[in-house]
Amino acid sequence: MDLSRALAGIGAALIACALLAVPAGLVPGATSALRESIPPTRAAAELPVDGADRSWTPGDGGYPRHVTLHVYPDDPRDSAAQIGLVSYAKIASRLNALQAVSDRVSAEVVGRSVQGRDLYLVTVTAPETAAETARQGRWRTQIEDDPDAAERDTALTRGYKAPIWINANIHGDEPEGTDGALRVIERLATAADKTTAALLRRTRLYLTVTGNPDGRVAGTRENADGTDLNRDHVTDTEPETRAVRDVVIGTQPVTMLDEHGYLGETMVEPVRAPDGSDHAMLAAVEKLGLAARIDEPVRDGILAPMYADLQGSSGHIVNLPNPDDPDLPAAERCSRAQVNVDVAAATIEAFIGYADRHRTALIEAQIARFREGWAGLPAMDGIPRAYLIPAQETRLVAHLIAHDIRMTREGGHFLLDMHQPKRGLASALIETGRTPDGRVWGAEVISSDP
Ligand SMILES: [Zn+2]
Repeated sequence: MDLSRALAGIGAALIACALLAVPAGLVPGATSALRESIPPTRAAAELPVDGADRSWTPGDGGYPRHVTLHVYPDDPRDSAAQIGLVSYAKIASRLNALQAVSDRVSAEVVGRSVQGRDLYLVTVTAPETAAETARQGRWRTQIEDDPDAAERDTALTRGYKAPIWINANIHGDEPEGTDGALRVIERLATAADKTTAALLRRTRLYLTVTGNPDGRVAGTRENADGTDLNRDHVTDTEPETRAVRDVVIGTQPVTMLDEHGYLGETMVEPVRAPDGSDHAMLAAVEKLGLAARIDEPVRDGILAPMYADLQGSSGHIVNLPNPDDPDLPAAERCSRAQVNVDVAAATIEAFIGYADRHRTALIEAQIARFREGWAGLPAMDGIPRAYLIPAQETRLVAHLIAHDIRMTREGGHFLLDMHQPKRGLASALIETGRTPDGRVWGAEVISSDP
């Protein structure tokens, strides 16, 4: 739709605003009227909606954060425990024990499942004072808000701890990623070698050890609402998905790995072209004497690593080899599950090792992604220069803000300028919600021409 025609009924002031405040060829870092009009923080406090209420935010305290997790009573039906894996209830006691002996491990509750089970985020890093954590937070914000300044800041390039995210068990009946992640956390917590100490000084490892506790207990792919959480990242209907969203926004991982199953042999699936981390994981599995290969991921929705990619990360999937089969003898089921745990732990270790060795390149790649977004790149067919959303469409506005999309209030509308750091995500959210009648999530949205 032509911008001036679309705006005809809205008023001259708004036309002037939309045309003047969105200059073509805006360069990142420029002190343009547009940049000044965009709220500098994620909170978008001026907006009359409360969409940025977060399930979890990084907080100000240093590390470690000794949070004693609530330990739930053991559930005899827990399906992971039936094949020799850690029950959901035991995860909290394992993490409490680790926090008691290691100053490298912090466990936090980032939300609750449909049935009220805690969702955990484990951070493994070298201890930080509150001031050091605050500085990391300022660098994280600068990378997104002012990537040019971030690139010039040699203290940032030297001192920013690369955030690396490991996600496990989003599908409840694919439980071994959790056990693999716990094994890696336990090794990192107490390892006395210099390589581990250096790794934890240079990186922050974030592990969402089970993304679907209700499904883990029940042995179902879906959560207790019957939703496949890995197809819910854009719609955000489930509390588990909203918690993951807030972890991604709050931690801003430069790279992430999602552990799944099962395709008979280990499959490594990068969201973009394979990089060294995929080959490192392949080699780690082959070292266990098992076959592995790299393949394209299924693209039937915006899966967690694709969502992370849209949030500025590099996304990777591992599919563990051995499906469970309840008709097999118990010993065989347990031994298959243990092979999967070995593969999960080996791939997580290889992934973390690669990310540490390529820490600077990964940080630079994220800076470049956000810089491109501010410059309106990459150019994509059909992406308008901006959207105008009527102010009364608070549901859509809240949805976009919750995903960290930036807007400014312009008279009776919200202006969504597509020159912004998470440009691809803004487009994906809008276009996923577009219906044949041209509405977006039920709202009348006006698109300006490129
Ligand atoms: Zn899966």
